[in-house]
Amino acid sequence: MLLHLLIGVAILIFFVVCFCVFFDQAILTRRGTIYRVRTNQKKIVLTFDDGPSPIWTPLILDELKKAHVKATFFMIGHHVQKYPEVARRVAKEGHTIGNHGYSHSVLLYYTLEELEEEVKYSEHVIKEATGQVTRYFRPPKAWLRKSEKDKINQMGYNIILWSLNSKDWVAFSYRTIVRYLVRHVHNGDIILFHDSGGVFKAEGGDRRQTVAAIPILIKRLRKKGFEFVPIEEILNDDQSYR
Ligand SMILES: [Zn+2]
Repeated sequence: MLLHLLIGVAILIFFVVCFCVFFDQAILTRRGTIYRVRTNQKKIVLTFDDGPSPIWTPLILDELKKAHVKATFFMIGHHVQKYPEVARRVAKEGHTIGNHGYSHSVLLYYTLEELEEEVKYSEHVIKEATGQVTRYFRPPKAWLRKSEKDKINQMGYNIILWSLNSKDWVAFSYRTIVRYLVRHVHNGDIILFHDSGGVFKAEGGDRRQTVAAIPILIKRLRKKGFEFVPIEEILNDDQSYR
């Protein structure tokens, strides 16, 4: 009996891990969001979620600066409060800041009032730390109901997901990450990375592979003619998929 139970649990864990590693849940929640931009130009956007981190964000900023690339950082309000100087550096170096909620909770079961409070409080915290008011929102884990998407759009935000997931939180090596992204990239892609967090938590983690992947990815995609642009620029280009 116990053996059957253990086998059952092991199978369940196996399927959950496979789901997380090989499937991107954002595919299920894309409707009503911007996840790729329809453009005939070889422009792409780099995005980083879950920061700021006092360890990983500065290392990523150093790589972006060396390569003269501007990216978008979807910050968790709680982390901005803890590390405001890191958030300020992101803004000072010309990157775009996005709102990733205050607590990184899945917002699916929030009331619309709770959702508004979560988004606005994070907006307030980001403004206090960086002086910037962001108009880009990315829901934690990509989950939002249709009514929540409508609410966030009414609040003046663009909801930004992604079309290409580096899966850097799974602990793939930087070589695997770069190989996958170079093989699958298209014009107008929005690429997801993380500058904090791991499989079970939204803070800390080990982002060494992400840091190592950035300069190589930039070099290889530039060789293929791609240009890395801020989210604002690519949104001006053409109609996004909605
Ligand atoms: Zn996140």
